[in-house]
Amino acid sequence: MYSLEGTCHCGKLRVEVALPQAPETYHPRACDCAFCRKHGAAYLSDPAGRLRVVAADAQAVSHYRQGSGRAEFLICRDCGVLVGVCCEADGRRYAAVNARVIGGEAKFAEETAVSPRKLDADSRVERWKSLWFREFLIETP
Ligand SMILES: [Zn+2]
Repeated sequence: MYSLEGTCHCGKLRVEVALPQAPETYHPRACDCAFCRKHGAAYLSDPAGRLRVVAADAQAVSHYRQGSGRAEFLICRDCGVLVGVCCEADGRRYAAVNARVIGGEAKFAEETAVSPRKLDADSRVERWKSLWFREFLIETP
C-alpha cells in the first residue's frame, strides 16, 4: 500500500489515504457539477484502498448535501476546504478524497473530467459504489 496524507488549509482536518497502486497511476476525477467546480475538487479513490479523515475537534467537519442529496461533502468548518465526499448504500459507507488536499511528493496522473450529474440518482450511487473507497472512517476526538 502507498500511504498519502493531506490536510485542509487550516489543518483541522487531516486525511490519510492508502492506495494499492502507485499514486501516479490514478487520474483524479474533476466533477463538472456546479458545486464541485466552485471548489475545484478532483476526486481520488480505490475500492481496494482506505480513507481516514481525522478531525481536530468534534465540530471541525461540516456536512453538506446538494443535488440529489445522496452524497455528503466533508468540508472544514473553519477554512472551508472540501476534503472529500461520502455516501451510504447497502449499509456501508463509501468515500472519495479530494486529491487537491493531498500534499507532499504525491503526483497523480492527469485529471480527467467526469459528469456524474448526467446519470440518474441510482446510477450515480452505483458508480460511486464501484469507484470509491469501501474502507472509510471519520475520527473525531
Ligand atoms: Zn480547515
